[in-house]
Amino acid sequence: MSDALPLAPWLEEPLRQALTLPRAHAVLLSSLPGLGAFEAGMALAQAWLCESAEASGRPCGRCAACHLFAQRSHPDAHWLLPEQLRVRLGWQEADDKKKPSQEIRIDEVRAMLGFAQSTRARSQGKVVLIHPAEALNTVAANALLKTLEEPGGSLRFVLVSEATDALLPTIRSRCQAVPVPQPQAEQGAQWLRTQQPALSAADAVALLRASGQRPQQVLDWLSAGLTAPQLAGFARSVARAELGDFIGWKPEALIDLLQRLCSDLLRVTAGGPPQYFSADQLPKARQAAPLQAWAAELRAARRHATHPLQWALWLEALGVQAQRALRQACKANP
Ligand SMILES: [Zn+2]
Repeated sequence: MSDALPLAPWLEEPLRQALTLPRAHAVLLSSLPGLGAFEAGMALAQAWLCESAEASGRPCGRCAACHLFAQRSHPDAHWLLPEQLRVRLGWQEADDKKKPSQEIRIDEVRAMLGFAQSTRARSQGKVVLIHPAEALNTVAANALLKTLEEPGGSLRFVLVSEATDALLPTIRSRCQAVPVPQPQAEQGAQWLRTQQPALSAADAVALLRASGQRPQQVLDWLSAGLTAPQLAGFARSVARAELGDFIGWKPEALIDLLQRLCSDLLRVTAGGPPQYFSADQLPKARQAAPLQAWAAELRAARRHATHPLQWALWLEALGVQAQRALRQACKANP
């Protein structure tokens, strides 16, 4: 069996680029959220460790190193991911007593520095994969700088970021950046249906459109229970302040979707076509001012989205806020 990663088609080009960078000791895969950039980072790390890589540099998927990497037991690979993500990926058990950290902590960076100083076990050098790099808090990021600049020996870094602007400039400047492109609409829809064969072509297109062409985000939505009809009726639900269906969602995911709705309504008031939803799914918005006020409220909510104390109450408040904005926006006169 092969352990080559079945990479989504739009991730092939950044992988190719990263593999052809001369003397790259630290590569930063810079992506928008929801494109699956982590998979490209994994493929790059695996390629660097593969002991029988193809002429293109891609990992063979068959050698002992590839098998070890796929099982995450390669002795020369180290993964630096926030605890919350490790739990979500099933890499570690959840601790019932405390909420898993969303940050990459200083003690985790110190453990990585220990790995950095150890002697390599196999032939191809050592790799540290950091994802998402913006989860490094300032202390942790500063502890990393020296090693990132001069890894020494055969150590190389792959950093994956879905918010490159949020990285310390000192981290960014020590890496060779490779952008991860968004897929073309058709390419994204095709890939989505290979992942979710029950999805109709029309639904795949509609979901992708609402996600801003971010297929991994669509998969996250689907696994959170969103259906295409729910999405089509989203503006109507919002207008009735009925957001109960989203109680199981992560707050930031719902706020993202509300922000897209708000942005589309603003485009409509300016006489333009909506970007994320189709025009027949949207109310007839006429006034921009209430929508601009709502956009500001959503930005503020987004900043606090990682720590909502009482999500159910918060959800209700978001609904009321949205309903008020939509009502005022649809009035004939301000
Ligand atoms: Zn291999």
